Amino acid sequence: MPHAKKGLRLDLRTLILVLSAFTAVLMLLTSYFASYRVQRQLLIDHSLEANRVYAAKLASITDLFIGNALKQLSFSAQVQARQLADSDALLAESERVLHQSNAFNSTFVVDARGILQAVSPAPLRHLLGSQVDTPGVQEALRERRALVSTPYLSSANNLVVMLSQPIFASDGSYLGFAGGSLYLREDNVLNSLLGEHYYKDGSYLYVVDRNRRLLYHPDGQRVGTQVSGNALIDQLAGLGSGTRQLTNSVGVEMLAGFATVPTTGWGVVAQQPLAQTVAPLRQLILNVIAISAPLVLLGSLLLWWLALIIARPLWQLAAGARALDRPGTAEHLHGVRAWYFEAAELKRALLFGLNLLQERIGRLNRDAQTDPLTGLGNRRRLEFSLALLEAEGRDFSAIALDIDHFKRINDSHGHDVGDQVLRQLAELMRRCCREGDVLCRTGGEEFVMLLPGAPLEVATAVAQRLRLAVQDTAIPPVGAVTLSLGVARWPAQGHAPPADTLAEADQAMYAAKRGGRNQVQVSGPIIAPALHTH
Ligand code: GH3
Ligand code: MG
Ligand code: MG
Repeated sequence: MPHAKKGLRLDLRTLILVLSAFTAVLMLLTSYFASYRVQRQLLIDHSLEANRVYAAKLASITDLFIGNALKQLSFSAQVQARQLADSDALLAESERVLHQSNAFNSTFVVDARGILQAVSPAPLRHLLGSQVDTPGVQEALRERRALVSTPYLSSANNLVVMLSQPIFASDGSYLGFAGGSLYLREDNVLNSLLGEHYYKDGSYLYVVDRNRRLLYHPDGQRVGTQVSGNALIDQLAGLGSGTRQLTNSVGVEMLAGFATVPTTGWGVVAQQPLAQTVAPLRQLILNVIAISAPLVLLGSLLLWWLALIIARPLWQLAAGARALDRPGTAEHLHGVRAWYFEAAELKRALLFGLNLLQERIGRLNRDAQTDPLTGLGNRRRLEFSLALLEAEGRDFSAIALDIDHFKRINDSHGHDVGDQVLRQLAELMRRCCREGDVLCRTGGEEFVMLLPGAPLEVATAVAQRLRLAVQDTAIPPVGAVTLSLGVARWPAQGHAPPADTLAEADQAMYAAKRGGRNQVQVSGPIIAPALHTH
């Protein structure tokens, strides 16, 4: 059998569904992934730019502040130049500068020899008159110009940045400097400027000087320490402003924006951890999925429906092809809605093939049930017709007939003439019948006629008519022949099968032979008298 290898066979609908589901999932994942990548880059770019702008703003504010503070000191230096000998006036001016703004934590005047001549606030007064040789002071005395120092430890042990302006006499001789300091580890204006809480999302800000020393850092402990191994800080002085994606000293990936303060060369860096920047992405993608889910569901339903519509004609045609030998297949195939090219072609081909097949089978059937000599039905046709009549429950009468003394005809005229007689008889039988009657040659010169729906009287009349027609028809070179006929009817009494009716008709026919031939005998409850005409 060709079905030996059965196994699991996918059908077209499953294939379409699997293919489209696969494509849909692939496209969904691709679009989710693409949207994830794009959004991520957007967030990163946005964060980098926000940090850069923030750092630049703070750098410019710091620059403004430093410029202002130096201006204040410059003015004060001119005032102090005129009153270096008056310690009260010096002190008063120093106090003015300290209190007029909150630019400095302390203000002071140092003379050209490094002696502290005035200092504010009051708690530092005990240092008056002492020699100061902190790095800031030394640098100011050496440079004799407006300066912003690098951070150092002051005489009062504060980590400070010192701003200073030189004091020159009217003749241009150097008299010392007026200075103001910012305590990096205490409240100062720089801290308030920079330390104002930035975002609460893990972002933070720090400031380094040219020597990579931290001037401001959210972790106060680190202020004053030098940063090492940070590529960005190493290059900061030369970069101006910009953005960087980098890994910080504790191994956290950061998105940094930076800018430098022009007057001091300080670097301001604002940064946010990458992880925090991209954290909203998960929710974003979940939102995208939530929004697209109903559409995906709708699309899937549509897909399922389309797969059904596309696969249905082929499925129905396949079912038809499997049942080509069954009745009703042609109607089934005609009913298939082949709405696209391939299905229509297949339908056409199947119907064509089916037609051909049925024609062939029909011809073979006809041939198999036909007697070649007379063109009447043979025993197969008889049996088939009987079975059909029985199945339909249709009543009928049967006439069995046999040529009288046929042997003699054969003997005296030859077999071919005998055959000719048989053909002639067949023709006469046809003429005596109606459409729908079944005429069969069941043996050499024995025939049966089935007359559906005919009562016994009608069948008897037909038999009689045939007998007379044969008797009166001369068949050269034989002349006239005669028939003996028996008639029976089905259903008879009881539930006897149609085959019994045939046997009864045969019996009646033999009775006709016995009765002298060329006569009709009827089988039935009341056996009719022999009907013959002489
Ligand atoms: P009866 O009146 O008793 O029927 O006499 P009969 O001679 O017809 O006897 P029977 O029916 O027994 O003879 C049948 C003969 O029919 C025998 C055979 O020679 C002849 N026959 C049978 N088949 C054919 C056939 O196909 N062609 C021809 N020509 N003759 C056949
Ligand atoms: Mg005979
Ligand atoms: Mg016979």
